[in-house]
Order: sequence, then C-alpha cells, then structure tokens
Amino acid sequence: YGIRNIMTDTIAVQLDQVTKRFGDFTAVDAISLSIREGEFFSLLGPSGCGKTTTLRMIAGFELPSEGEIFLHGSPVGQLAPFKRNVNTVFQNYALFPHLTVEQNIAFGLEMKKMAKDEIQRRVKNSLYMVRLPNISKRKPNQLSGGQRQRVALARALVNRPQVLLLDEPLGALDLKLRKAMQLELKELQQQLGITFIFVTHDQEEALVMSDRIGVLNEGHLLQVGTPRAIYEQPANRFVADFIGETNFLNGRILHNQDGLATVTIADSLTMQAFCPDPVEPDQKVTLTIRPEKIHLHPTPNGVEPVHNETAFPGRILHAVFLGTDTRFSVELAKGAVVEVRHQNAQMAEDSFAVGQPVTVSWPAHSAKILTS
Ligand code: ADP
Ligand code: MG
Repeated sequence: YGIRNIMTDTIAVQLDQVTKRFGDFTAVDAISLSIREGEFFSLLGPSGCGKTTTLRMIAGFELPSEGEIFLHGSPVGQLAPFKRNVNTVFQNYALFPHLTVEQNIAFGLEMKKMAKDEIQRRVKNSLYMVRLPNISKRKPNQLSGGQRQRVALARALVNRPQVLLLDEPLGALDLKLRKAMQLELKELQQQLGITFIFVTHDQEEALVMSDRIGVLNEGHLLQVGTPRAIYEQPANRFVADFIGETNFLNGRILHNQDGLATVTIADSLTMQAFCPDPVEPDQKVTLTIRPEKIHLHPTPNGVEPVHNETAFPGRILHAVFLGTDTRFSVELAKGAVVEVRHQNAQMAEDSFAVGQPVTVSWPAHSAKILTS
C-alpha cells in the first residue's frame, strides 16, 4: 500500500433494504446505507442490536432474508466470502493456536497458492504495518492481548482487502491499551486508505475513531452522521441517551416557527429550542440539552436577558467533583432538574455550593426538541 489518505465519493459498500430474520425474529430490519471508499464507518449500538449480523452479511457469512448488498457497485448476491474483496477481524481474533504468528498470517495466502517469496514479503510487510516485528515465530498463547489483536489485524491486511470489517476488535483490551490502539488503528486506516467498517458498543470509541457513525437499536438504523452531528443533533431520544450524557425535560409545544419552537417545561418555564421536526401546538415533546452546554452563574437573576439565550434562576441540589469539571444538579422549578457540567478552570470555586441560588443559561439552539 502507498499512502493515500483520501475519502472519495465512490461508494464502497451499499446496503439496500437489508433484512435478516432468524425464524420469526428480525435481527436486522430493512437497513439502507452507503459507505464511501476510504471511509472509517462505525456501526454503534447496544449488545444484541444486530451489529455482528450486519457485518456477517457484508462479509458473506450470512445471506440477507431480503434486500441486496453492493460492493463497489456490484450486487454480491450469493457470492462466497472468499470471492468478496472484504476481510474480517473477528471479535475473538480467531487465531489458529497451533500455528506461529507468521503461519497464521500466511495461512490465507497459502490457501490461494500464492508464490512463497511473495507470501514472505507480504507477511513481513503486514507485520510492519501493525508494528509487530520480532515475534513472528511465536504461537498465539505466547502473546499479549494487544499483540494478538495486531496479529489478527495483520492477517486481514495481508490479503489487501478493499474493505476491512472489524467486529469489536478492541473489546478484550484494557482501557489504556484500548485508547492507544484506537488512535493507532485510525492512523493505519488513513495511511492505507482502506474502507473500515468498525463495530462497537462503545460510544466514546465510535466518536474518537469514525468519519461517520450509524446508530443501531433492535435491528433498526436510527441515525447516520458525523460524530458531531450524532452528538449535537440526535434524531431521537434513544440516540441522545446512548451517546454522551444529556438532560431530558418533558415539555409542551406552544408554537413553532422556522425550526425554533417555543415550549413550556413543568407548566412553568417557557423557552425556545431547536425543532427541525414538524410539531403542533399542545403536542407533548421531550426537550434535550447537554450538561456542558449549560452555563452556571453565581447569583440568581445574575444575567442580562440576551437574544436567543435561555436563562432561569435555580438552586443547586447536588454537586459531584469529577476533577476536570464538577457536575451540578440544579432545580429550575418543581419537576424540572437539569444536570450541569461546569469546568473547574479555577483552583477552588466556592461560589457554587449545595443549596445556593444560581442562574443557569444556554443558547436557545443548544436545546433540541425530540418527537420520538
Ligand atoms: P450484536 O452484534 O449487535 O450484539 P448480533 O448481530 O450478534 O448483535 O445479534 C442480533 C440479534 O440476533 C440477537 O438477538 C441475537 O441473539 C440474534 N441472533 C444472531 N445470530 C443468530 C442466529 N444464528 N440464530 C438466531 N438468532 C441469532
Ligand atoms: Mg456482536
């Protein structure tokens, strides 16, 4: 591989209304999705939502019950896995225990009857790519978890796939190694320019690594977007809740104009919020706002009203010191409590103590109306 580091507009993988049923259980429900060549795409969702099943259909280990998968524009139909230019790094690595590192990596190429010197060259190159020199004669049980993970990666890369499928490849690693490998894997993907479809249930991992994320729940694809779009503009309550921390407040629509709705919370607080979905007056909705978007001010009614800014007096109920920031629970009215993340920029902040009256404020557009 040369260094390419480009995401093109060419579609590498396309799913068109792909459904997978096991008996009368629907594991994947009519998913349509296009993944670009050179893209780092993550499928994110809780355990059992259909991530592995989706990946296995792309790889060819399962056939869709309905719908079609296209690789570089061609429908794959019943094409066998080894005839697809796609390789998989499995969740449990699936290394052969009786073979050395080198033999594990060479195995697929030997099956293809590739010339010996070409195999040797490729094995060496792929060990180098995953930064694993000098252990080629060891067996898998003589390796650390991180090394095993790299061997599994090298074994997939040695085939020079156009698309690499990775099923929770970092799941078995401890947190520190996992974080280091996230960055390394992302860097490798950019260098090679291969399309990665990366499966994880870890929202932070998906945010750190991906160009785009597809959020899955119960076989449904709920939202596809950049990490920022998914975080800042969640399409529904599940996505807002699954990715990051957030506040949910029950509200009632008063009116909506040009995507900015006026809504009452707890029948007493009236505010504006971003509202891209169609809504009717009196409709019950959920308002969501991220804790770090809310500003705390030390005195009640301590801020001048600003256009497109929401401000309310409140009272601090709880405070939890988290090092970089402190999480406050602030009661705005009976039945309306918001969590606020306040950065600890100063050494000691005595101005925000439990019981103290404060003002909270946020830009109106930081709050979003969810209708589902
Ligand atoms: P994830 O990888 O997101 O944890 P899976 O794709 O492995 O989820 O599974 C999705 C759902 O489909 C689960 O409820 C699982 O039990 C079910 N499932 C997966 N494979 C089979 C199978 N071969 N037979 C029956 N049910 C299956
Ligand atoms: Mg899985």
